[in-house]
Amino acid sequence: MHIKINDTVEVVAGDDRGARGKVLLVDRAAGKVTVEGVNRVYKHVHRSQKNPQGGRLSKEMPVRLSNILLVCEACNRATRTGTRYQDDGSKHRYCKKCGADNGQIAPRKALYAKK
Ligand SMILES: [Zn+2]
Repeated sequence: MHIKINDTVEVVAGDDRGARGKVLLVDRAAGKVTVEGVNRVYKHVHRSQKNPQGGRLSKEMPVRLSNILLVCEACNRATRTGTRYQDDGSKHRYCKKCGADNGQIAPRKALYAKK
């Protein structure tokens, strides 16, 4: 998975196309992420102890990973990502447009370290 919590991503398909937001939650099993301000729905809630007023609650629902792209930290564009190993064996992702490093996505592995 090349998307992490707190990444900035851009929506490239669907109703919220063009919107940018911070990743709040990643569901690896379902291949979905929840993005701040994207795919907001109204959940109608009944009166309860926790919610004495009841009413409508606005919340974000998860979107498919294929509908979002990472926003590159260096060039500020929505981009596909590649991965490459650093000399110490850790796996990093990089921007396919400008080539800039966009952070580590897997821990160091001796197998991939440069001797
Ligand atoms: Zn870039």
